[in-house]
Amino acid sequence: MLVSIIVPCYNEEEALPFFLDAIQQTEAEMTAAYGCDFELLFVNDGSRDNTLEVLRSFAGPGVRYLSFSRNFGKEAAMYAGLQHARGDYVAIMDADLQHPPEMLKAMYEGLQTGAYDCVAARRESRKGEPPVRSFFARCFYRLINRISDTEIVDGACDFRMMTRPVVNAILSLGEYNRFSKGIFGWVGFRTKWLPYENVARVAGETKWSFWQLLLYSIQGIVGFSTVPLALASVLGLVLCLLSLLMVVYIIIKTLLFGDPVGGWPSLACMVMFMGGIQLFCMGILGQYLAKTYLETKRRPIYILAETDEENPHGGQEA
Ligand code: UDP
Ligand code: MG
Repeated sequence: MLVSIIVPCYNEEEALPFFLDAIQQTEAEMTAAYGCDFELLFVNDGSRDNTLEVLRSFAGPGVRYLSFSRNFGKEAAMYAGLQHARGDYVAIMDADLQHPPEMLKAMYEGLQTGAYDCVAARRESRKGEPPVRSFFARCFYRLINRISDTEIVDGACDFRMMTRPVVNAILSLGEYNRFSKGIFGWVGFRTKWLPYENVARVAGETKWSFWQLLLYSIQGIVGFSTVPLALASVLGLVLCLLSLLMVVYIIIKTLLFGDPVGGWPSLACMVMFMGGIQLFCMGILGQYLAKTYLETKRRPIYILAETDEENPHGGQEA
């Protein structure tokens, strides 16, 4: 039984030595307990620091690496890792030790029972997170689960271990705009959730700003729901009905009371309001159009610049 562990790394030179120590200790314990083998597969996502040098020094038996030609994002790094993993079981985890390696044991046991195809960590609380961010995160999950058929679990992590069929299913979704929480939900399979508390990063700093998270959430909505597209029709219909009522009202009013000139401020407000709604709906259309545009280009999800592999999968094939 071979277990692949995929580790996306972007500017993680400080965290990587701690990570390697911790993961190799867990590997040794698990090999002793269950007799399974491991391969570590690091994916350097175009780091600007010395991550690549660190990875080169790690490479050897049981440790492989892939290196991108630039930063393609964590989603692309995970995809590349899944493409190149050889294990019967494949795990994904962050390089910053926010995902405790000890949990791999519980994940492995969960898969071994045969009752699950995927065992994933799930954050129980949002402790230690700025309250504004938690608030928006909750709103996002409530919204997307209401408008999408795909179940997107609040607090679900990328930290998970999967069987080969699940990996193949994920790889079969070759879309360019990847939103892994949606993809994991979309492929289905029996998933076991393990509760876990977020721990602080061992070194370095997070790569996510609030703005990036906002864009990412829009990508998630556009990728897994078409309900916003219907919004324009619904709003348009409602406003049509409203305006009909107003026409009737104005005709009656004019017949009864004559037609003194007036109502310019209200007219201005209405023009603004309509303009706003039209732009808003056009913006939604634009979001879908932009994503469709990028998908139709069929660009590779990532480009490999260097690896210790002999016959690497090119990202081009993706
Ligand atoms: N990461 C990556 N590419 C990126 C950003 C992040 O491969 O463009 C990796 C990063 O090195 C880490 C993981 O994704 O292993 C999670 O990133 P981070 O810890 O910054 O996110 P957070 O834990 O704060 O959500
Ligand atoms: Mg992190």
